[in-house]
Amino acid sequence: MNTKSLEQTYELAVYPRRDIVLVSGKGARLYDEDGREYIDCAANVGVSNIGHGHETVAKAIYEQYRSLGNCYSMFYNPVRARLAEKLAKLAPADLNRVFFCNSGAEAIEGALKFARSTTGRQKIISAMRGFHGKTMGALAATWGSEYQKPFVPMMPGLTHVPFNNFAKLETALSEETAAVLLEIVQGEGGVRVGNIDYFQRVREICNSKGVILIIDEVQTGFGRTGTMFACEQFVTPDILCLAKSLAGGIPMGAVLCSDRINVPVKSHTSTFGGNPTACAAALASLEVIEKERLIENADAQGNYFKEKLSRIDSKKIRDVRGLGLMIGIELKEKAGPYVHMLMDKGVIALLAGATVIRLLPPLVISREEIDFVVSALKEIL
Ligand SMILES: *Cc1c(COP(=O)(O)O)cnc(C)c1O
Repeated sequence: MNTKSLEQTYELAVYPRRDIVLVSGKGARLYDEDGREYIDCAANVGVSNIGHGHETVAKAIYEQYRSLGNCYSMFYNPVRARLAEKLAKLAPADLNRVFFCNSGAEAIEGALKFARSTTGRQKIISAMRGFHGKTMGALAATWGSEYQKPFVPMMPGLTHVPFNNFAKLETALSEETAAVLLEIVQGEGGVRVGNIDYFQRVREICNSKGVILIIDEVQTGFGRTGTMFACEQFVTPDILCLAKSLAGGIPMGAVLCSDRINVPVKSHTSTFGGNPTACAAALASLEVIEKERLIENADAQGNYFKEKLSRIDSKKIRDVRGLGLMIGIELKEKAGPYVHMLMDKGVIALLAGATVIRLLPPLVISREEIDFVVSALKEIL
């Protein structure tokens, strides 16, 4: 059997598949089994920020695995120690303690538990159109009955309020609220950037009511939006959830916490959390982001990209928006067919809701590659 038949036969059919077999990648380019080249504007939904096939990370993983691949966090380890220090130094304000896990949803699970244990309260407020992952706790915070319905009952205590609407959040918030959980830019929800003023007011009310502010930067983290973390441009959280591009493509999540966060010993642990192989990959990836000035590149190329996109003269486009290299093109019709047309033209893009084409290229993308994507979009729109 060929690759497609094998996957179709032996895996649960939970992913809506695109009809290509990807076998390799370099920088912002991907190659399928027939050798066809694509410009990657998905980066595995924001995982591959440093691009594909980076030698620095490949070498770090190989060397660490040969030396000590796994080390349960019951023991100290120098590579984990260095990464914890590095993240604390990169993180805003007093977010100087970290819990390591293995994915975005796990980072959210940790954050929800830490908020409850710190405050002794149970209720969580998250946003409509928000996406926080699909494990049971994260799923309750994620917006969308189609995701939740087959798996009810949901974890109790969750309320969803409209994103970027302070009055609605203020009404929902009470003495029983443990945490407010928000994205800075709603990714799955349509590439929607919240207002600075909104986040500032949320910060103030959380302060005055003793509520923990959790910011989910699983998708926006590590340079994507033109700063290391998007929250630097908006607000300082008490808990910052990270994953996706943290370890250069190796599974890893992290929950960064302020001194305020209080978690009893043994109450939350993870077998793989903070394993030295992932930690070495993360340290190498962070080195690449700094050495190759990828944050600056995300900012510059993001502006260039948006500028070029906004000049496409098409009646089908309703809006072009985003932050750094996280860009949404909202259409006046369903975007699904256009994402497939783009693939035929050699561009891999994402959807964000029914009508938005989402572009999340690796931060190494060049002007020539952006020009190629823009001309492909021009042709189909
Ligand atoms: C992808 C994503 C998650 C979930 O991450 P997984 O690693 O798939 O569990 C959570 N929050 C946001 C904002 C994401 O983009």
